[in-house]
Amino acid sequence: MLKLGVLAIQGAVSEHVETLKLALSRLSLSGSIELVKRPSDVEKIQGIVVPGGESTVIGRIAERMGLLKVLRDKIENGLTVFGTCAGAILLAKEVYDAKIGKVDQPLIGTMDIKIVRNYYGRQKESFEVDILIPVVGSKPFRGVFIRAPAIESVGSKVKVLATYEGLPVLVQQDKMLAATFHPELTNDTRIHELFIKNVLDR
Ligand code: GLN
Repeated sequence: MLKLGVLAIQGAVSEHVETLKLALSRLSLSGSIELVKRPSDVEKIQGIVVPGGESTVIGRIAERMGLLKVLRDKIENGLTVFGTCAGAILLAKEVYDAKIGKVDQPLIGTMDIKIVRNYYGRQKESFEVDILIPVVGSKPFRGVFIRAPAIESVGSKVKVLATYEGLPVLVQQDKMLAATFHPELTNDTRIHELFIKNVLDR
């Protein structure tokens, strides 16, 4: 049976659990969703969602618990992952802050992307916009951007699946998927379904 995990340190954990359950049922698949809190939890799962929240908090706690290294090793060896917002920041190799420039914060760091934290400004500059994502169909996807980062550049192995104002907002490299917005805050499960298909397609 399919076992999917959600990194459960801080942030939009329950929203991802619910969206994954809905996505599984829409795909007519059975599976369970595990909360990943310690290194041994990673052994049980075939794919993991790294949620949005505060990337510095998630990164520091995960590092202290030895989770960051385990996740990095597993992902480098093919564990399927989907990072949203802060999760996308944690997956990036290079992280900048919109105000202070290059930052040094604990990362998983497996995706060849350069990302800028808080690119669009503070909480009040959060916004929603329809995005076209051809790989999930022609119906626009409602992108919810909350203190969102921006992906400024991507390496040659990274596929850009969607853009907003010319910048990538959904990217994939091998079995690693990253979104700068929050698909778990909508009822649209198409990106979670794409993640599940990535888990099955190995
Ligand atoms: N600004 C947050 C960070 O840098 C990300 C925001 C979010 O995940 N909604 O971690």
